[in-house]
This record gives sequence, structure tokens and C-alpha cells, in this order.
Amino acid sequence: NDSQNTLGALIRAVADFPKPGVTFRDITPLLADAGGFARCIDALAEPWQGSGVQAVCGIESRGFIFGAALAQKLHAGFVPVRKPGKLPPPLVAVEYELEYGRDQLQVRSDALKPGERTLLVDDVLATGGTLAAARELVERLDAVLVGASVLIELDALRGRERWLGDTPVHALLHY
Ligand code: IMP
Repeated sequence: NDSQNTLGALIRAVADFPKPGVTFRDITPLLADAGGFARCIDALAEPWQGSGVQAVCGIESRGFIFGAALAQKLHAGFVPVRKPGKLPPPLVAVEYELEYGRDQLQVRSDALKPGERTLLVDDVLATGGTLAAARELVERLDAVLVGASVLIELDALRGRERWLGDTPVHALLHY
């Protein structure tokens, strides 16, 4: 489709980064392209227009970039979902599995109001563990998850079906 061709041309594939056998998708050429970045935000927002999104949760750190712009586009507030050690208390934390070991995502404990209609945003959906942890944070605050939006989905990892079965997920680009 059009996004895959025109925006996909602005994503750089880096072989063997951060370790051998992994192809890293570098989004920084897209961010640096004024027209490309604007079209990207328009296309990310489009499926959620009219769905009453009140809060956009961006996941540290590249999710902040897309999430903040998307929040403006959707006339919603922005909530940073952060890695441990960044937010002062009171906060809510969820642990999740990484390939090696565990990590945590945190939000302020009053970051979302009960029932607030919330959209999750990140740059890349890989194994899905990160978005699943963020979804748990939204649930812990009794907010309503409208869906998740990512720039890139790595289809072969099947993160969507493994972790996000009942959550509407929109991905602009697929690899
Ligand atoms: P997951 O939890 O395995 O789905 O990994 C998603 C997280 O890892 C996101 O927060 C991404 O920013 C990051 N990530 C995974 N693969 C890539 C990549 O190829 N490029 C940039 N970020 C990536």
C-alpha cells in the first residue's frame, strides 16, 4: 500500500543490531523527514478518529515521539509510560518478561481516570510483551483500552496473536 511504499522508504534496516541475527528497524530517517513524519502521524491517527480517545499512552522512549504527536492530532491528553526509576511515587508498576530477564513499566497512579478511553502507542510491535504490560497498566487504573497503535509490526514474531488477541491493534507498516 501507499504507506508501506512511501513511509517504508524512510525506515532504515540495520543488519545484526543490537546483536547478530537481528534486523533493527531505524525510524530516525522518518522523523527527520518533515513531510514523512507529518504523513505518518496523519495515518496513525486515521483509524482512531471518532473513537473518543481521551488519553494517549506513549511507551518510553520512541513511543513518546509518536504518542505526543498523535495525542495532539486526536485532541487527547498524553501520558508517558516509563521504565523504572524515572517517575516519582505514587505509581503503578507491571513486570514483564524480556528475552533475558524481566523489566517493568510504570505510570503515575492517577495518570488515567477510571473509564478514561485510552490508546497505547509505540514505535515497534515485536514479541508483544511491552504492549501487553502497558495494557495491564491501563487495566490496573480501571481505564478503558480503545486499542494500540504502532508504526511497525514485525509479523513473524506473532506478538499480536500471542499477547494482544482481543485488543484492536493498528500497524502502519509490516515487516
Ligand atoms: P516487544 O516487547 O518484543 O514487542 O518489543 C517492543 C519494544 O522493543 C518496543 O518498545 C520497541 O521500541 C523495541 N523494539 C523491538 N524491535 C525493535 C526494532 O527493530 N527497532 C526499534 N525498536 C524495537
